[in-house]
Amino acid sequence: MAGITPTLSVPERRRFLSPPEESRGALRAACTLAALALLVTGCRPSTPAIHTFSTIHMDTVVEVTLVDADTTRARTLADEVFAIFAQVEAEMSRYQRSSAVSTLNDRAGQAAWTPISPGLEAVLRESLRIAELSNGAFDPTLAEVNRLWAFDEGGRLPEPAALAAAVSHADWRRLQVDSGRARLTGAGCGLDLGGIAKGYAVDSGADLLVSRGVTGAIVNAGGDMRLIGHRPDGDPWHIGVQHPRDPDGLLEVIRATDCAVVSSGDYERYFIVDRVRYHHIIDPHSGLPAAGCQGVTVVAERAMTADGLATAAFVLGPEAGLDLLRRAGARDALIVDAGGTVHRLAEAAAGATTSGDKATP
Ligand code: AMP
Ligand code: MG
Repeated sequence: MAGITPTLSVPERRRFLSPPEESRGALRAACTLAALALLVTGCRPSTPAIHTFSTIHMDTVVEVTLVDADTTRARTLADEVFAIFAQVEAEMSRYQRSSAVSTLNDRAGQAAWTPISPGLEAVLRESLRIAELSNGAFDPTLAEVNRLWAFDEGGRLPEPAALAAAVSHADWRRLQVDSGRARLTGAGCGLDLGGIAKGYAVDSGADLLVSRGVTGAIVNAGGDMRLIGHRPDGDPWHIGVQHPRDPDGLLEVIRATDCAVVSSGDYERYFIVDRVRYHHIIDPHSGLPAAGCQGVTVVAERAMTADGLATAAFVLGPEAGLDLLRRAGARDALIVDAGGTVHRLAEAAAGATTSGDKATP
């Protein structure tokens, strides 16, 4: 299996990438090696080639892997997917002053509604659905809490009183969504869609490729993936799930077609103070990094759903997390708890198109 199958690591995004189009310094060496592995294993004389393109959007490496005989066509399709990511980022990033999300945040607490696109409406509605299903473990209104932790700048310990105030302002029930418009009903409440918007962008890119007749592809935004069709040899895609505490080790290899595979982990953005790891997935009730898991990987039909569910399950911990994933109809899932024990959504996997192999070293 391993000899002929490209295996993409899910969470350790930067280790398994093709060469970026632009110069990315240290990323380049690792990316080049991985691309070689992909191409060497993926190309057979009688089958269409696998092409891989990558760039950076949403502060994440976005990679498009395409099965196509025509390199130019593959490049054009990848560029179309990247354009979608740029568009989603421009609309949904809380860091971009001109984004619709920033407008909504600026108007928090005011009665006025803000017009939103169908795409943003879909993301907000799915956010609210998962917030409700998870009893608030997923909360799209943590902007102020996340700003205090500043993981985007390397992270810092927030001042306790400021954190408590920010936690008291965040509440998904203060987000109101109506047809074509939305508003936040509490001052100090702000949208941060970092736990779900990437999944939406992945779905949008994958849907575009399907509509163009692509029969084999992976859209991967930092480990949030949609798998389309098959590899050139007719095999399903093989996705390696990284071990949360071993950047070089795989927990499992998932074989799947036509689904989303999305991971959340405490190894993605974190800093350590006095041997305590502070990471970017926040328990909305305390404002502190959630303590129950090291990593969660969810297999579902759509990446947006899998993205929100993975974050929510991480916050809930293994037992309540698996219960949520079962209720939400996830196809499969792996949860690594805080002690390193792996929990699997075995029952819910029945009937899914995925199958997992224990990775052999
Ligand atoms: P992910 O990697 O998909 O788990 O998303 C993590 C990102 O989601 C963080 O960087 C924050 O932007 C945001 N986030 C953190 N905690 C939560 C939460 N409890 N609910 C929703 N979004 C969150
Ligand atoms: Mg997520």
